[in-house]
Amino acid sequence: MQYHIWTIGCQMNVADSRRTAAGLERLGYTPAARAEDADVIILNTCVVRQQPEDKAVGRLNQLRRVKERHPERILALMGCMVGVKETAALQARFPWVDVFLPPSDPTELWALLAERGHLDEAQTLIADAEARRLALGRADTILPPSEQASIVSAHLPIVLGCSHACTYCVIPYRRGAERSRPPAAILAEARQMVAQGVKEITLLGQIVDRYGYDLPEFAGAAETPLVTLLRQMHEIEGLERLRFLTSHPNWMTDDLLRAVAELPKVCEHIEVPIQAGADEVLARMRRGYTVDDYRRLVARLRETIPGVSIATDIIVGFPGETEAQFRHTYELLAELKLDKAHIARYSPRPQTVATRTMTDDVPQEEKERRRKALDDLQAAVLEELNARYLGQTVAVLVEGRHVRQKRWFGRTRTERLVFFPAEGNWLGRLAQVKITWTGPWSLIGEIIR
Ligand code: SF4
Repeated sequence: MQYHIWTIGCQMNVADSRRTAAGLERLGYTPAARAEDADVIILNTCVVRQQPEDKAVGRLNQLRRVKERHPERILALMGCMVGVKETAALQARFPWVDVFLPPSDPTELWALLAERGHLDEAQTLIADAEARRLALGRADTILPPSEQASIVSAHLPIVLGCSHACTYCVIPYRRGAERSRPPAAILAEARQMVAQGVKEITLLGQIVDRYGYDLPEFAGAAETPLVTLLRQMHEIEGLERLRFLTSHPNWMTDDLLRAVAELPKVCEHIEVPIQAGADEVLARMRRGYTVDDYRRLVARLRETIPGVSIATDIIVGFPGETEAQFRHTYELLAELKLDKAHIARYSPRPQTVATRTMTDDVPQEEKERRRKALDDLQAAVLEELNARYLGQTVAVLVEGRHVRQKRWFGRTRTERLVFFPAEGNWLGRLAQVKITWTGPWSLIGEIIR
């Protein structure tokens, strides 16, 4: 029996897919490289923008033929396309799909597999999923055995959903209201991951810095709950690196910044989206801060955390964004010289405030022009920033080997991708690499030890 999971979208989806794969492997399934060969096919979807949604619909239409030829096979649609209460409309639109799974919740799949004969093990998975939903702190299998030897860096969701409701964003409608997972459950899963060979864990949340404010464990606590969790995670023996994302400018407390600076395992890399460089656009996006607030945050980060690298997200062509407002974003990006910028064109998403109340009035070609201008600018910024690595020796956590190029690759603490040639097996090791070439997207070096 074989399974195939197709995943698109954010790291939360990647983590959900791995957990679901782990459950399937507990039931005796093995991974299939092609969906067409699998008995259970799962599409884990994203609807943050139109493009990933279109891709998922394209895959669904292709798989319709597979289902027609092999009706006994199970096709599951998972993730943000399903959302928390979208099932009826989807059932009508895609009647060849057997089961619809909301984000982070494969329970219905386990129930279907129980019906199809995997009764005992599937019931255990249902109990695990239920315990997880009720936040009882059970640690279910989180990495599929087939991948355990190769996963060096894993993602661990700690906050599910989001209650911020930025006007462009569909996440709160699809992943539900914000809720934190109890620290005991997170720590148990982290220990299990490390026992399975993971060296680096990235804690995930839509606003990860809001972790724990809704949990009784942290009521009246003197320090930021995420700081307490980072300290506890830091104690895990065998864990080499710790990261967290995504941050929101309004929730980055001073003690959190100090913890990043002080805890050696916590990497000096922060992902904190600005989304736009003009106050009027930020207000219409309902982000809750101004451009100057963000400037001050960048200054605080650089002051408190030596050598910090900062990543951001930007949306161009938000409704009503004028050329002058776009220029402010361009100039801000040139001024701040951040270490990574993910630039996306705005696309209206169902249910959101922007879709319901604003006109998508920036033409597609103009959005693309703005996106490309920022991308080109960021490439030049990165060329300059990365050139500073030339001749330096950096610690690289090795994540894999590029077979064709015959080079190992991994990341620095600041999230730079580094390639280096070396004999032997470097997977999962911390390599000291002297940088001999730099470009905007990666570095190349030679191994020192
Ligand atoms: S903070 Fe805003 S952009 Fe991020 S998930 Fe929540 S609503 Fe979406």
